[in-house]
Amino acid sequence: MTQVVQSIKCPNCGAPLELEPGEIIITCGFCASDINTATGVKYIFQHSIIPARYTTPETILPYARSWMGKGFLKPPDLAKKSRIMESTLELLPFFVFHVKASTEYIGYLTRTGTNEERKGTFEKEYFWKIMARRGAEFPTAEYSVPLESKVPFNLSQVPPGAKFLSAEMEEDEARKVLRQELDAHARHLLSDIVDTFTKTETKIEVEEMEFLHAPVWIIKYQYGDRVYRLVMDGASGKDIWAEIPSPGEKKGFFKKMFGGA
Ligand SMILES: [Zn+2]
Repeated sequence: MTQVVQSIKCPNCGAPLELEPGEIIITCGFCASDINTATGVKYIFQHSIIPARYTTPETILPYARSWMGKGFLKPPDLAKKSRIMESTLELLPFFVFHVKASTEYIGYLTRTGTNEERKGTFEKEYFWKIMARRGAEFPTAEYSVPLESKVPFNLSQVPPGAKFLSAEMEEDEARKVLRQELDAHARHLLSDIVDTFTKTETKIEVEEMEFLHAPVWIIKYQYGDRVYRLVMDGASGKDIWAEIPSPGEKKGFFKKMFGGA
């Protein structure tokens, strides 16, 4: 079956909008309305954007180079020998929830050898983000969205050439993911007092939700004969996550290091 790009009209301004398969919430490129692609109806939630400070490869790549040159876990010639293959500024969609979570837990503390039963309710408040793309290989946990710099969504904040990504899930689905992640997070936070859980049940109460686009650079670089990925924050210029060649992958490095032939 061929995947056909569909076209719908913006319910707010009438502009024709094209959507890719799988896109659930699209943003009109003329009036900035957010539209539910299944119903053709406009959403009324708050949409924000983190303005990108580094909007071109020329502005971000010096930071990528500088990252390559720092840190003792990298090959020392990484900056010198790497070749940038591709750099793309993506505007990624997130749901950001201000949420109160309450986890009822039953379990045991076994590592003391006493098998003490532990139960209780653990409550915590969070600002928690869920990436609204499916199967996206993005290190959401490592990325701390600079929420303090967000502004109301505005098309002039979408840099020319940036890849604007629409949401592939609705808020309802994001809430399900949110509940699962907060349940797992509660287990993690409780691991000091419970090491074997019989049961946890997390209830969430969303105080506020907003839809947010945030700028992220996906940089592919080649070192030796492999290509690696470096993800950088388009607002701060900091590295978020990276694949790093291990020093041993380059021939000769260990020889040099350990003084071999
Ligand atoms: Zn419109």
